[in-house]
Order: sequence, then structure tokens, then C-alpha cells
Amino acid sequence: MPEEQQEVETFAFQAEIAQLMSLIINTFYSNKEIFLRELISNASDALDKIRYESLTDPTKISEVKDFHIRIIPNKDEKTLTIIDTGIGMTKADLINNLGTIAKSGTKAFMEALQAGADISMIGQFGVGFYSAYLIADKVTVHSKHNDDEQYIWESSAGGSFTIRPDPGEPLGRGTKIVLHLKEDQIEYSEERRIKEIVKKHSQFIGYPIKLLVQKEREKEISDDEEEEPKEGEEKEKKEKTEESGDEPKVEDVEDEAESKEKKKKTIKEKYIEDEELNKTKPIWMRNPDEITQDEYGEFYKSLTNDWDDHLAVKHFSVEGQLEFRALLFIPKRAPFDLFENKKQKNNIKLYVRRVFIMENCEELIPEYLNFVKGVVDSEDLPLNISRETLQQNKILKVIRKNLVKKCLELFDELAEDKEMYKKFYENFSKNMKLGIHEDSQNRKKLAELLRYHTSSSGDEMCSLKDYVSRMKENQKDIYFITGESKEIVANSAFVERVRKRGFEVVYMVEPIDEYCVQQLKEFDGKTLVSVTKEGLELPEDDEEKKKREDDKKKFENLCKVMKDVLEKKVEKVLVSNRLVSSPCCIVTSQYGWSANMERIMKAQALRDSSALGYMAAKKNLEINPDHPIIENLRLKVEADKNDKAVKDLVNLLLETSLLCSGFGLEDPQTHASRIYRMIKLGLGIDEDDLPVVEEAPIAEEPIPDAEAADASRMEEVD
Ligand code: ADP
Ligand code: MG
Repeated sequence: MPEEQQEVETFAFQAEIAQLMSLIINTFYSNKEIFLRELISNASDALDKIRYESLTDPTKISEVKDFHIRIIPNKDEKTLTIIDTGIGMTKADLINNLGTIAKSGTKAFMEALQAGADISMIGQFGVGFYSAYLIADKVTVHSKHNDDEQYIWESSAGGSFTIRPDPGEPLGRGTKIVLHLKEDQIEYSEERRIKEIVKKHSQFIGYPIKLLVQKEREKEISDDEEEEPKEGEEKEKKEKTEESGDEPKVEDVEDEAESKEKKKKTIKEKYIEDEELNKTKPIWMRNPDEITQDEYGEFYKSLTNDWDDHLAVKHFSVEGQLEFRALLFIPKRAPFDLFENKKQKNNIKLYVRRVFIMENCEELIPEYLNFVKGVVDSEDLPLNISRETLQQNKILKVIRKNLVKKCLELFDELAEDKEMYKKFYENFSKNMKLGIHEDSQNRKKLAELLRYHTSSSGDEMCSLKDYVSRMKENQKDIYFITGESKEIVANSAFVERVRKRGFEVVYMVEPIDEYCVQQLKEFDGKTLVSVTKEGLELPEDDEEKKKREDDKKKFENLCKVMKDVLEKKVEKVLVSNRLVSSPCCIVTSQYGWSANMERIMKAQALRDSSALGYMAAKKNLEINPDHPIIENLRLKVEADKNDKAVKDLVNLLLETSLLCSGFGLEDPQTHASRIYRMIKLGLGIDEDDLPVVEEAPIAEEPIPDAEAADASRMEEVD
């Protein structure tokens, strides 16, 4: 005995875990029953692990072949015991997994609780085990892993736990958790209560959950058969049954009724037996017509640990050359880390003929659909399939194609209900757009699922189909603009002319839109044309055409002078047909980056800015022939090509347009000093050291109203 005690090691819980445990113990919370769901879910995970390992190495289950979960209530002892024949834990696992290695979820869960989350969400944060302390004041975990001896982990909370070798009954393999129930939680040793909770929370667990129950039956025995069992013997037998879960045995003989004619007696005997609580077949094997929405909801929750119902579900089977069944769910919310990791896991569980094979099977569904959750059960795949062989598997390719098709069908169905689709789109629009980028085969279908604000859609978003239905008779293209926000693009100079001419502009304001639209290129035979890029041709009548030709000639010289001043800062200076109230704007070449793309790339390419030099947008400056600033500038240049103010003014115009068109300034200092010179001029400050302004008096002959010209310039600067 003393020797054994020496082998007891004591460990301190990692600080956050200790904090979490006291929170669980001390928080007033009535929905304590969820502890059982968490422990059963852990048992099920442990069974998944050993079953998967055994597919490639059958010797791993030579010790215990059966996969199940057993629940043993004991009213007298005030305990509830949960046993699984899963993978078990080594001594190191017990120490690490149950107390010393903190998970990010520990802190996140405590913060969530503070923010009003419910304790029942514990499973999502990866700390479900500790929910045992909702109903137990002491928890004893016996565990046996193939690679180690059997150990006992035990803790009554209070900041520490112990580990010791388990001299008790061998488990063979797996884990036995004994919950020593708190005085006021004895209800969890009641059969009826346990049945109720398992039905509510764990009916879809893929392994038999067996509850040890007390039963009574009538039995006829003839006189000569009758043998009074000795009390002591029977009791021993009973204990044995409870421990090992053997077949039901006679426990006690009570009440006897004599039947004199036959010389037989009917006796009532009490016995115990395992009752399977989750006998229903897997939900995906059942007929969809017979499954209620509530059942789908319960299954979804048990599959995903989500505390909320799903948004939509698709349950289907494929038959023919290849057979499989699948159940796909769309959650209501995107997980907080949906696009955080580069390699995002998906959420489809793969089964082969009812046997769970693996989670996160990459080949099963493309990345852009990683938010879809569910199960796929194949009749054709081999059971011992490994991750490596999956990649080449033809069956899997067909399944994948079908899953994508069904997902798109499901999205289409959602789109029929505006409110539902709005919810969906708020959460998963990025996925649709990523799909357009990645999945060329389904691009057309996905494009129909896109929704955008446009210059005429108001507060609601609309589809490209809606846009096309509103297109003007002479309109050939779909006009769009990309940018930082709806407000910014709606007020941009690019949009104003297009709108003024009565055309609608699609506002694309998510960074991913830039990538999406590059692939999309067209919709319903109409080209998508950026209003910020070169080559925008708005349909025009003869009069408008003639005016443009005239303007081109009229401003030819000014364009040349401006290009000379700006040198390499722009590719070309051109007369614009897209501006109304702005004097000029920056247009990017058709295949280069837009301003928005340059902004995104600059933000992303912080580490390697060398690429930006040659990748950056190729810019053209377009001038508005109808704007007084441009007209006056033209007159000024006609009068004196070498006017020194021209250089400053042209640069200011360029810099201001860069800003308005969504670009950053390379050299804000120079821009600032130009502005200050204009401000000083505006205020009439006459300093000797203002050579440019001094030497270039604005009030020259060709400009009839110098004051007005100044004022309008100041307005532009402001
Ligand atoms: P999660 O299940 O999200 O990982 P838990 O707090 O529920 O978080 O469990 C912590 C860890 O303890 C599990 O990841 C697993 O490694 C281990 N564990 C818990 N219960 C069992 C069990 N019955 N069999 C084997 N390992 C278990
Ligand atoms: Mg768990």
C-alpha cells in the first residue's frame, strides 16, 4: 500500500484551465445535462480514432474488438460511469489533454461566457471535458492506451489533479470515467433521466450507447427446479455483472406464485441488462420524407457542436453505377476563422458502408465550399482506404462532382427566399466569389448567385440577372466599379457620367471582387466593363460622337503639354467622355491593376514591395473637356506654353485625381507644398520666397476672371 501511494503524482492545472473549472463549478447554471453529451462525444471521438487506425493495422484492436459506449448509473454510490472502448489515453495523454496543456479555446470560452454565451457552447471551444464538473465534485478517469499501462487521472478540482497507475480491473483498451455526483445532482444516476438526455443530445452517435438498466421479468419454474440461491453468492454475481457488462443474469428471486396443477411456480426476478439507447439507423440512411426538421436540427448539432440550428439542409442519395448517400447542411453563421488559415479544413465526414472513415477529406469537396457541413456514406469505396490513395480515387471524384452540384442546387433553392438568401449571402458571399475564381466549370451557375449593390439597387442588393433585365436598349456591356466601400464608389467621378447617361453601375466593394471579376469577364453574353479602366465606350448618338471628335482636336495641344509636364507619371493624357463635374480622373489600362487592386496589393505585399514597381497600375490621365478648369488651363497654355504656373497646376490636377480615383500619393510632401502655395495665394500672402506663384501671376490676359478661376481652384483643392 505505501508503495502504491508513492506512485501518486500531483499536477497543477494550467492556470486558465483552473480558472475555467472554478467558473464551471461556481456559475449558476441550470442546463447541466449537457455534460453527458460532451463526455459521450469524447468517447465517440476516441472510438473514431481507434477504428480508423485499425483499418490499416488490425492488430490494434486485438485486445478489444467491440466498439461501444456504456453508461452505468449507481444510485447507492452516487456515481455515473461512462466507459468507451476507444483509443484510450497514455499517461502522457492524461497529463497533457486533461489539464496541463492550454487550448486557445479555454480563454476564448471564458471570454465568450462573459459576453453572454451559454455554457452549453463549451464543446465548440474544445474544452467539453470540464463540463463534468457541472454535476460532479470528483472525477476519476481510468484509461488504457495500446502504447502504455493503465492509469488513473483524478481531480476534485481545486487547482490540481493526480495521476497513478491503475491496479484495478483491466479495461483492455479505452476509457472509464467515474463521476462522483454532487449531492444535489443525484438525478443523473437515474435511468429515466439518462435515457432522456441521451435521446435529446446523443441519439445520432455512431456507436451503440448502452445503458445498464434494472429489469424485472416473470419466470416459471417447476418445483424440482426451484433452488434458493444463497444470498451472498447472488450479490457477488450482481457486482460482477455491473463491472464487466456480461450477459444478463438472475439477480434475485422475489414473490412467488404457486400453480398447484402444474406444480410450477411463477416467480418475478430482477435482473440487469444493457439497453441500447440509440438504436435508430443513421439518419442519412432513412427516408427523407420521414425525417422531421427537428431531427435534422438535432443531428446537425450533434455533428457540428453548433448550438444553433442549421440554415438549410439537403439530403439525397445517388444510385446507379455508383452509390452513396449524403446529408449536407449550411450553418447560419460563418465560423470566425473561415478564411484565417491558408489550408482550411472542410466539414464533411466520410463514411463507407456506415463505418466512419475520416473527417476533413480534402478530395470530397472544393475549398470554396468548406463551410458546408455534413456526411457522405459511400457503398463503393474500400474500407481500408488511406488518405494517400484517396487522391487518385475515381469514385471520390464522382462523389465530389455530385456534392458540388447538390450544393449549388441548395443555394439556388435558398435564393428563392429573399430573406433567407440575404442571411446566407451575408455570411458566405466570399465563398461564392472564391468559387467563381476557382471553379471554372460552375462559374456560370455561381455567377447567378452573386448579389451586388448598384447605382440603382438602393439598399437592397441585386443579381446580375436583375441588372441585365434593366439594361437600356442600346447598352451592350455591364458596367462595374471596384473600390473600398459602397459610399466611396457611389461618389466617384467614374460613376457619375455613366449614371448621368442613364446606365447602371455595379458596385464591387469586397477585396475578393477584384479577383472574382477577373475570372468572370462576362454574364449572360454581356461583357463586364470597368468604368475606371481605359476603353470604356458608352453608347453615344451622332451628335455626341461629333462633339467628342471636336473636343479631341480642341484639346490635343493641352494633352501634349500636360504629358510633357507629367513625363513618366502617366502613360497618356486623353480627352474623357466619362466625366461630369470633375476636371479629370485617372484611368487604368484594361489589363493592368485598378486603383483598388493596387491598394489591395500594397496592403498584401508589404514584405516584397519590389514587385509593386512593375506590377503597379498603368495610368492614363483623362481630362474633362466641359470643365472650366480644363478650359481655362487650355486657354492659358495657348497663350503661353511656357507659363510657369502651368507645371504646378498640372501636377496638382494629377495628384488630386490620383486621390479621387483611389490611389495613394508617392510623395505627399510635394503635394502638400503645392497646396500651401495655392492657399497662400488664396489668402493674398505675398512672400518673396514664393517664386512659382510670384512669377506666374494668374491674372493674365487670356483669363477673363482671375478671381473666379482662383476660387474654383481653391474649391477643387478643398
Ligand atoms: P475536445 O473533445 O474538443 O478535444 P475535450 O475537453 O472534450 O475537448 O477533451 C480534451 C481531450 O481529452 C480530447 O481531445 C482527447 O484527447 C482527450 N479525451 C477526452 N475524453 C477522452 C476519451 N474518452 N478517450 C480518449 N481521449 C479522451
Ligand atoms: Mg470534447
